Amino acid sequence: MKIKFLGGADVVGRMGMLVQNKGATLLFEYGMTASKPPTYPLAAPPVDMAFLTHSHLDHCGMMPWLCGKYDTEVVATPTTVDVAELLVRDSLKIAGLEGYPKPYDEADILAMMRNFTTMTYGEIMDVGGFEVSLHPAGHLPGAAMYELKGEQTTVFTGDMHTYNMRLVWGAHPVQCDNLIIEGTYSGRLHPDRQKTEYELIEKVKEVVERGGTAILPCFAVGRTQEIMLILKDLKYNMWVDGMGKTINRLYLDRPEYIRSEKALKAAKRRFNEVRTPQDRQKARRDAQVIVTTGGMLDGGPVLTYLDDVKNDPKSAVLLSGYQVDGSNGKALLDEGVINVQATKEEIPHPVRIKCEVKKYDLSAHADQAELLAFIRACKPEKVIIMHSDDREPLAEAVRQEGIKVLLPKAEEEVEL
Ligand SMILES: [Zn+2]
Ligand SMILES: [Zn+2]
Repeated sequence: MKIKFLGGADVVGRMGMLVQNKGATLLFEYGMTASKPPTYPLAAPPVDMAFLTHSHLDHCGMMPWLCGKYDTEVVATPTTVDVAELLVRDSLKIAGLEGYPKPYDEADILAMMRNFTTMTYGEIMDVGGFEVSLHPAGHLPGAAMYELKGEQTTVFTGDMHTYNMRLVWGAHPVQCDNLIIEGTYSGRLHPDRQKTEYELIEKVKEVVERGGTAILPCFAVGRTQEIMLILKDLKYNMWVDGMGKTINRLYLDRPEYIRSEKALKAAKRRFNEVRTPQDRQKARRDAQVIVTTGGMLDGGPVLTYLDDVKNDPKSAVLLSGYQVDGSNGKALLDEGVINVQATKEEIPHPVRIKCEVKKYDLSAHADQAELLAFIRACKPEKVIIMHSDDREPLAEAVRQEGIKVLLPKAEEEVEL
């Protein structure tokens, strides 16, 4: 079999990977990087079938293009299908607002929705000379690793975490000959998760007790729910705003993909939902804790709440997600400012944020040690590391185990 990346091999983002076997071509992921401007993988050829691991845009963002152009069938879990629809629609809307060319239109999104074939963990499909099956990947509800059984067994992890987070159980190793694994946290270790959660809870208490508002900017998918689960036992006036509310409902619609339906329902009950402009006024006036999009402060309701507390030293902005270079979240951490523009034509100007700012690592990706333990337990002969800005630290650790490592770049074909 041959592997060729269309993107996302040596970068976190814009994924796309072709697998050729016995005359068939399969595509794993077809995403985009939602940067300014957005970036895309190389154009995909027509393929026999496409497979999607989870709903993040760097994995699914270009599936509408593929389906609109070639009418391709796409395999994913039901929860991934639900959330992917919401995210690609949102990304099309954002492209319009930011004035970038749209890579696809509404008709292409409808083609994608028509062309999804849902599969769940443990089910098997015969395609391209493989028995294809899905395993839980941790990371997000419904996130899947694909196992391809042919003459050799190959596993493609997508994004993964082995840690049992509050929202979703961690991934278990799958024995294989070839392991194609993500390396977002290559060379890096997370701090102790329980300790981080404890520190976050204590900080929220401290902020509220001193009379401030704790603002927790979160990505809608996964992080909003994880933070709500962490804070759910606090007895404060807590609100949730942004697309995360819709994701809560989509996840509760398919409870078999979450760790605890009971816990997520309890968390949802503890938070007031901002559904109307009046609700938002109420939240701005009364809330002690606000969980809201956007996670990198580049848009969404968080900017309204931040504007309210920016000169209040009693309040705090508690970040937990990855803050990409050039984002407001990154500017806030590095320089204590965010860049705002009232209209699209206006040049962004910095606004100083004088409330407390803290960052917590609650990543949904396995770190170097967790990846290495997972790789050992899969007992592969060959490992391909992908989805990483810096693959070498993990590659070196894997080589020391006596396992062959391949680090193909986009467009480079490798034979397995
Ligand atoms: Zn992801
Ligand atoms: Zn990803």
